[in-house]
Amino acid sequence: MASIMLNNPWDRARSQLHSAVSHLKLPAAFIERMEKPDRVIEVSIPVKMDDGRKETFRGYRVQHNNIRGPYKGGLRYHPKVDMDEVKALAFWMTMKNAVIDIPFGGGKGGVTFDPKRLSEGELERLTREFARKLTPVLGPNLDVPGPDLNTNEKILQGIREEYAHETGADAPAVITGKPLRHGGTDGRTEATGLGGFYALMETMRLLGRGHSGLKVAIQGFGNVGSFLAGYLKEEGFKIVALSDSKGGIYVPDGIQDLKAIQECKAKSGTLAGCYCVGSVCDLSNMEVLGGRDISPQEVLELPVDIIVPAALENAITEENAKKIQASIVLEMANGPTTLEADEVLRKKHVMVIPDILANAGGVAVSYFEWYQNMHDEKWKKDDVFARLKDKMDTATQAVYENAKDYKVSLREAAYIVALKRLYDAA
Ligand code: NAD
Repeated sequence: MASIMLNNPWDRARSQLHSAVSHLKLPAAFIERMEKPDRVIEVSIPVKMDDGRKETFRGYRVQHNNIRGPYKGGLRYHPKVDMDEVKALAFWMTMKNAVIDIPFGGGKGGVTFDPKRLSEGELERLTREFARKLTPVLGPNLDVPGPDLNTNEKILQGIREEYAHETGADAPAVITGKPLRHGGTDGRTEATGLGGFYALMETMRLLGRGHSGLKVAIQGFGNVGSFLAGYLKEEGFKIVALSDSKGGIYVPDGIQDLKAIQECKAKSGTLAGCYCVGSVCDLSNMEVLGGRDISPQEVLELPVDIIVPAALENAITEENAKKIQASIVLEMANGPTTLEADEVLRKKHVMVIPDILANAGGVAVSYFEWYQNMHDEKWKKDDVFARLKDKMDTATQAVYENAKDYKVSLREAAYIVALKRLYDAA
């Protein structure tokens, strides 16, 4: 029963909050404030469907907390979106933005539906109606949505246009994730993967551990997983396994050409079977490379040094945590480890670099985009990356120091860092 409760994301978020506050002497009123989102918005979205029917969808925006700045967090379109999920995600954004030390609070939103079911026109009408419903609570200094699951720059651009239409003022900083030509920033595409790379490198430096030749297995080869894999390989890590939703590949001696794999995946729709020698990728190379196919799940259980969940929530459960052989987990997905799994990993002395630190590079660069819009500036990619490195290194050091001081895990330390900063700003 308890484990069912804890798989509810909002229960999990509250449990993480309570575990961190047990180490701090914070007033009950402040803790209560963290437990209660500032504003919870639920809207009806009537949409005219292509066949002339009207269908009404449910949309959400949770503004968790703005002690440190405007609410910031993505909008997702997914059948599983509900209020508890959005509340938890908004809470995690408050914590993440405080850990990475950007002047944003936390928010999140979404609409409950399967985007694959809607035509392009229906999707656009839904987005614009959702934007009209949210306009009164959005604004560059109030609440700044960005993309998330199944939303993209086109959808966000639609929200910006509708906001401009309703308010009479076009404000690029009302959203982030814009295309470059519409006020987006250089470096956003790489930001989350690169940020995770910086967090890992800084952790290794603080531990005094070398990293050359360390074996890495990555679950999820999308935006985050593919950029991270590239940066790690360039730095001398050995990428031995990759997986996507359909399957995965395991090459114990190390995958040589990530670019060829990406092209193979783009062509065949999955990286399963993408064994590449030079630019030729096919199953017949599997034996030559000494590789084998793996399931999306097995990728986390291989004999490697580092595993990277970079796909979905709840990827590491109590069950598979027992089988994990790696000594480091770099959490690139949001909420990839259940509470029960966290406990198993703690007992096994597996070090978890937590999501609210590891994947904060994305929102850090979204903040850079917002800042450039607000100050009419345009930064070069190198400049964006240098600032990102500084943010990630500083946050990693703060989390590491707090973990030592409080004798807690990096996850608890990340919450401690965030809560102290939030309390100082309150
Ligand atoms: P994406 O859609 O580009 O890629 C997701 C990848 O996961 C795909 O390769 C997909 O095939 C794979 N996948 C899906 N189900 C899987 C399964 N059951 N097993 C193995 N692989 C599976 O998404 P992304 O932008 O790379 O995001 C990945 C994760 O990182 C998500 O949890 C997201 O919330 C988180 N995140 C992303 C960003 C960002 O800036 N993109 C920022 C913070 C956190």
